[in-house]
Amino acid sequence: MSSSPVIDKLALIGVGLIGGSIVRAAREYGAARTIVATARSEATRRRVVELGIADQVVETNAEAVKGADLVIVCIPVGASGSVAQEIAAHLKPGAIVSDVGSVKGTVLKDMAPHIPQGVHLIPAHPVAGTENSGPDAGFPELFVNRWCILTPPEGADAAAVAKLDAFWSALGANVETMTAEHHDLVLAITSHLPHLIAYTIVGTAEEFSTVSRSEVLKFSAGGFRDFTRIAASDPTMWRDVFLHNKDAVLEMLAQFSEDLAKLTRAMRRGDGDTLFDHFTRTRAIRRGIVQIGQDSPAPDFGRAHPAKDASPLPRPYAADSE
Ligand code: NAP
Repeated sequence: MSSSPVIDKLALIGVGLIGGSIVRAAREYGAARTIVATARSEATRRRVVELGIADQVVETNAEAVKGADLVIVCIPVGASGSVAQEIAAHLKPGAIVSDVGSVKGTVLKDMAPHIPQGVHLIPAHPVAGTENSGPDAGFPELFVNRWCILTPPEGADAAAVAKLDAFWSALGANVETMTAEHHDLVLAITSHLPHLIAYTIVGTAEEFSTVSRSEVLKFSAGGFRDFTRIAASDPTMWRDVFLHNKDAVLEMLAQFSEDLAKLTRAMRRGDGDTLFDHFTRTRAIRRGIVQIGQDSPAPDFGRAHPAKDASPLPRPYAADSE
């Protein structure tokens, strides 16, 4: 997608679904001249070497960031502060440090105190994902036509922001900039609360004793299956999201509980008009999402039809987790 690399040396800390997709996309679309990667465990580092997706795989975070023009931290948000502390002394002057965390306020608060003068901290969140984890789960088209939100702190260097914007654009993403606080509110309703509901409902079905577990699995097409996909998302990542975006999620949850109470009352009173009007409004939201190309109108989205072609839909259209 880009003619000359946006970044000379890219360092990735953490090679799971997101880091593994960035490393593949940066190479496939020529967004970085050289890519150095590292991960916490020896097993992941070894796997990255086997996959051959990075130019160099090193053992420590400090080694990875040496001479890097862009460092992207791709690990659960709860660990970003300690990694920033670890890499601080090894960062090249003028380098950009970024991340991919699903929460931005606490990442900024945890990382910023460690970033030296002359290094630009610009947090980011690619709003794209699947329920899978680890280096094998990554694929280069993950960010194509998806949003990547940059949350530069006040007074951030405009040239550094433009460079990060150009990097994500080269990976095929549409880039938007907003404050970390606003990001956390928006994502609380569009992503974090839906995940909380999915985690809850799948747990409820599991504990519901008058319907057997095999019946739940067998008849899961009735809406439940989509929840199970979301509720299969990485437990560490999501534990950190709820701990770090607690205030915004609790605010949205309070609003959600009020709305649920309204629908419950309508059901109890046999008020079909209220239910019908509500469902008509929500149907319009779904159609709007399809219209702006953020999802496919195909039934059973992202899954192969057993009676037709057994091959899955193209990977960029894999179901979103984020
Ligand atoms: P993942 O596939 O589980 O990979 C996580 C990576 O982080 C692995 O390389 C892991 O190392 C490393 N790691 C885990 N705990 C760590 C710690 N305490 N210190 C240092 N490294 C650690 O996760 P992911 O889905 O790529 O998520 C990474 C980040 O992207 C998270 O902040 C998440 O909020 C954000 N995000 C996720 C999605 C999504 O849909 N999954 C979408 C957008 C943004 P080892 O492999 O060596 O254990």
